[in-house]
Amino acid sequence: MESVYRILGERKPRKLKARQARKLAAAPSAIPLPPLPAIADARFLLPGNADYATYLPLHNKRNDVAPALRIVCTSTQAVSDCVKWVRDNNLPLALRCGGHCYEGFSQSAGVVIDLRRMGLVTVDAARKMVTVSGGANLGKIYRAVADKGFAFAGGSCPTVGVAGHALGGGQGLLGRRFGLACDNLLSIKIVDANGVIKVADAVNNSDLFWACKGGGGGSFGVATGFKFRIHELTHVRTFRIGWKFPNTGAGRTRAAQVFDAWQKWAPSAPRNITAIMKVQKASDGQLSLRVIGQSTGSRAELESELNTHLIVRPPTSALEIVRKTFMAAIESFAGSFDYESTYMKAKSDFVTTPLTAAAMQTLFTGLLAIPAGHVAALCDPYGGAISDVAPSASAFPRRGANTYCIQYYSRWANAADTQTRLQRITNVYDAMRPFMPGKAYVNYCDIDQANFAASYWGGNLPRLKQVKAAQDAANFFRHAQSVPLP
Ligand SMILES: Cc1cc2nc3c(=O)[nH]c(=O)nc-3n(C[C@H](O)[C@H](O)[C@H](O)COP(=O)(O)OP(=O)(O)OC[C@H]3O[C@@H](n4cnc5c(N)ncnc54)[C@H](O)[C@@H]3O)c2cc1C
Repeated sequence: MESVYRILGERKPRKLKARQARKLAAAPSAIPLPPLPAIADARFLLPGNADYATYLPLHNKRNDVAPALRIVCTSTQAVSDCVKWVRDNNLPLALRCGGHCYEGFSQSAGVVIDLRRMGLVTVDAARKMVTVSGGANLGKIYRAVADKGFAFAGGSCPTVGVAGHALGGGQGLLGRRFGLACDNLLSIKIVDANGVIKVADAVNNSDLFWACKGGGGGSFGVATGFKFRIHELTHVRTFRIGWKFPNTGAGRTRAAQVFDAWQKWAPSAPRNITAIMKVQKASDGQLSLRVIGQSTGSRAELESELNTHLIVRPPTSALEIVRKTFMAAIESFAGSFDYESTYMKAKSDFVTTPLTAAAMQTLFTGLLAIPAGHVAALCDPYGGAISDVAPSASAFPRRGANTYCIQYYSRWANAADTQTRLQRITNVYDAMRPFMPGKAYVNYCDIDQANFAASYWGGNLPRLKQVKAAQDAANFFRHAQSVPLP
């Protein structure tokens, strides 16, 4: 199976080199700090301290910033005390879990409250529930629940942090079957701007709970613990199939037949089946359409669905279906469990009405106009269990039965390529504007989105703003795309 986020022909990302990390660690900070307090379970790391550089790596090197102070907390009480100290001293603050934010909202030149050492994951098999500390990553949750015969519904990258992921929604290969990560949230422990430790669930602090299911990270407080519903599941079937079409009018028309079949089927397919479409330029210059996915149902159902609805043209890479354990599937879609640092950029669109022929051709032309390995369109079908939840029942609004998300995605190895890559992804995205309703995914945050709040939250924005005002009237928890005050 192939990793969801690999682009054909891309250069392999490299880990942050020790030299780069040392250079960042040595960079003088412009933010003056008051004397540091003594807080139990809080470790204060200043530039030059042993371990300061160890905590620097983040996923997107485009956002590298060395904080004046990183506070590594190991208890909720420590988080509470640190929040009060940061607030009383009026310091700029960011919250860091897995560090995978596309635009670096977990980075700050001031203070970072870092939860990565709060990584406890405890499975309660009898109650079909997992309790997760606020700094755990998805890989740790997957391993813990899989050991007990369960699955957790979340995204494909194991080093993504639970906090940023679940607060923004959290879509993955089990989303159509079991819902988003946030749909499975039973309760959340959160430290507010006054340092008060709150528990939010369907009954207590229910407005805050509503906002934490899709409102995004870094707006309402520091999430230090989560309880999620988990699902009995030991085995799945992964599948893949691929087509290549020449870059000619006829080739692109045939590609559109396949894409059209996918978009009219995948978001409304039986909820056992999640079929992700990847469109990209192959290194031989042809247009590549690959469908990779997973089913929790039978092989017969999967074959019948694919043959009836998707395989409208003979594939170039034949259909491959493999039964494997849930954990083996996670590993194969992940590619790696190592923490990867790379340069990347993404933009997104939610599609609610199938793309027209003109829109599909615009997408193909845009991707074919740039070198192979530079930009891919990763299309995730929603619908299924995600559409069982009403759009206003949680802050995450994209609940339509025929919805899918296009993620325009690029990653590269060298800083020198950044401007070119940003321009290329922008070109592909801009060309699609006339065809798109302007709805984007907060977990694929994009700093270029001027109208980000309406794009991410649509009709839920007014209520989100009210919750923000009730929870954090001084806008203490903020970043460039946090929920605005009314
Ligand atoms: C390689 C890769 C694969 C991905 N795959 C998927 C996928 O399959 N499905 C999907 O839905 N998304 C996916 N994402 C997007 C991912 O869900 C978001 O980037 C998410 O916000 C990352 O969370 P984090 O904790 O790792 O990031 P961080 O950078 O640590 O934080 C992200 C945001 O949350 C805030 N935050 C961090 N910790 C806390 C906390 N404890 N309390 C409150 N706020 C906090 C930060 O301030 C920031 O705004 C992927 C991202 C990458 C880079």
